[in-house]
Amino acid sequence: MRCVHEHVDVRGFRAPNHRVVQHFHVQVNPSRRHAHPFACAVLAAFGRGERVARCQGFYRTYPAAVQPRRMDVELLSDDVVPEHARAVKQDARAFAAEHIAPHAEEYYASGEYPWEVLEAAMDAGLVAQDIGEDYGGRGLDLTQMLAIAEEFFRADAGIALTLQLASFGAELVEEYGTPAQKDRLLTPVANNDQLTGLAVSEPEVGSNLAGMQTTAERDGDEYVLNGEKYWIGNGVEADWVTVYAKTGDTDDRYMNYSLFAVPTDTDGYEAEHIPEKMGMRASKQAHIVLDDCRVPEANLIGTEGGGFMMLTDFFNHGRVVVAGHGLGLAAAAFEEAWDFVHDRAGFGRTVSDFQSVQHSLADMRIEFESARALAYRAAEKVAAHDEPGLWAAMAKTKATEVATANAEQGMQFHGGRSNFTDRRIARVYRDVRIPVIYEGANEIQRNLVYRQSGDQ
Ligand SMILES: Cc1cc2nc3c(=O)[nH]c(=O)nc-3n(C[C@H](O)[C@H](O)[C@H](O)COP(=O)(O)OP(=O)(O)OC[C@H]3O[C@@H](n4cnc5c(N)ncnc54)[C@H](O)[C@@H]3O)c2cc1C
Repeated sequence: MRCVHEHVDVRGFRAPNHRVVQHFHVQVNPSRRHAHPFACAVLAAFGRGERVARCQGFYRTYPAAVQPRRMDVELLSDDVVPEHARAVKQDARAFAAEHIAPHAEEYYASGEYPWEVLEAAMDAGLVAQDIGEDYGGRGLDLTQMLAIAEEFFRADAGIALTLQLASFGAELVEEYGTPAQKDRLLTPVANNDQLTGLAVSEPEVGSNLAGMQTTAERDGDEYVLNGEKYWIGNGVEADWVTVYAKTGDTDDRYMNYSLFAVPTDTDGYEAEHIPEKMGMRASKQAHIVLDDCRVPEANLIGTEGGGFMMLTDFFNHGRVVVAGHGLGLAAAAFEEAWDFVHDRAGFGRTVSDFQSVQHSLADMRIEFESARALAYRAAEKVAAHDEPGLWAAMAKTKATEVATANAEQGMQFHGGRSNFTDRRIARVYRDVRIPVIYEGANEIQRNLVYRQSGDQ
């Protein structure tokens, strides 16, 4: 008796081990077809050139004409990206495809710091390279950093955040530091020999920059820091962190803060990881306790009392890059939503055949393109010092909220399968909750947009 072997397209079939299979190997004994109703139906449908898909627990056949419609657009296209940023964007895309996306699930599951990916990104010249050439970096500009961010965050936000935060806060030394500080502090970071972090947020105060409680008191030629910082990226792993602390108590609450470079091996600096997060688990944040932590006055960055203003300016750049975080996540959500509804069968057709579903996909695309146009415009505005606070806040708010909306819709489209923790859409859904908060919650951004939209 001869058996028939066929490879049959059964997209959407979920095997008992919960792995989705694209093709199914069917072995049928032609004389006992009645004993294999599924295989029999599959072979018959296959013979007729039809597609077979599982729907609500049953296998159904569809005319060959009803084929999944693949996305034929590149969401993170080059056209909106200025010419000079395209090459590094392509490098970032190739790196993300090879080193980030394939490891996203593994690092999400383990919650470990992605040292190997970070080292590979350093070797690829994609970490800390916004530091100027004078100090060993590539001097990548804001638009280039935005272009890298959207590529990295589309691949995986947790790993991407670790790569982008490797030099967080070092930019403040480049902008406001003395030549000696730049040589001493910046060059090792640009050479990828050291990691940094920026310590602003505190356990009791996050949004109110003029309300932070950590103090730095001058004692001779040193400053003594006391207080706690929370949520600090690389607080454990970094070699030094830029700490925002209160140095004055004047009536002008915006002139009471200063910035200090604090080596993490200084006596009185203690850091431990905060509890596990639901999203971006491949990035690590710390709770830092500063207990009579002494740094030389040579570690004061810029002028005493200028910390608030320096930080405000710094965040204008950071918020444009965070808009890139939102764009990457929004693109990932769109891709997952599109693929799922075009594969998923329901009511004798694919879910994508419903016009309301098509309209939702259209809305996701429209919102994504709006956010992206705004982000690249904001990058140019901020770089040109043209109302930077306004444009950075608008771009950050729009892109991060398009990411949450797209993720929400993508989850709805996934139906019950949205609840599988290992789905990319579920990872995106968890991750989008973070960029709407960091670099200033979006309510704070709206305050800035409102204030800067009227007479000063
Ligand atoms: C993954 C992650 C990484 C981070 N990394 C860093 C880091 O490296 N360094 C660092 O310093 N910080 C970091 N943060 C902290 C982040 O910047 C703060 O969480 C953020 O600024 C909000 O502060 P908060 O959490 O204390 O919220 P709160 O200030 O307590 O605000 C809570 C909520 O209240 C509302 N709210 C607050 N103020 C206003 C207002 N004026 N108007 C209207 N509504 C308001 C908003 O909804 C806000 O989300 C990180 C946070 C996360 C989640």
